[in-house]
Amino acid sequence: MQDLIDELGRLPGIGPKSAQRIAFFLLKIPKEDAVRLANVIAEVKEKVSFCTRCFNVAEGELCVVCLDPRRDPTVLCVVEDARDIVAIEKTQDFRGRYHVLQGAINPLEGVGPEQLRISELLRRLGDEDITEVILCTNPNLEGDATAMYLSRQLRPLGIKVTRLASGLPVGGDLEYADELTLGRALEGRREVDA
Ligand SMILES: [Zn+2]
Repeated sequence: MQDLIDELGRLPGIGPKSAQRIAFFLLKIPKEDAVRLANVIAEVKEKVSFCTRCFNVAEGELCVVCLDPRRDPTVLCVVEDARDIVAIEKTQDFRGRYHVLQGAINPLEGVGPEQLRISELLRRLGDEDITEVILCTNPNLEGDATAMYLSRQLRPLGIKVTRLASGLPVGGDLEYADELTLGRALEGRREVDA
């Protein structure tokens, strides 16, 4: 039982109290329900990994966005996390492709550019016909630092670099922005100054 509480406590957003509550809940539910949960976790770990091109979640080598021939290959939206793709897809305002950094620059937590998928991004810009990169990092300190760093890296390459328009809640998370606000921020994106 303590092992279960310890494991649950390692999940994001789950403190010791919540871990204990979930553990006792799992103890009470029918065995088949608990086994189903365990199986789903095992199955996801077995089948789902990250797209080798954009690092979105994928059930194969490439994700559904990369596999879709109707997507515009010239526009790339750079996000911190694969969850942000879900939020942007909901707006239905973006028809390009994505690149997931898998984090943001955060010196306090020891995350620098080399820990992010930036070298992979630069390689894509060399290999693919990308003319615009939209920096869709979160509107907070780490997201802004990451966008600034990327715009300095990308501008010399002659690629149009844009950033989401303001209007998103400052200090917030893209994931929690409503579709309308996010859609407007996408449409109103502006070119980043050097
Ligand atoms: Zn992909």
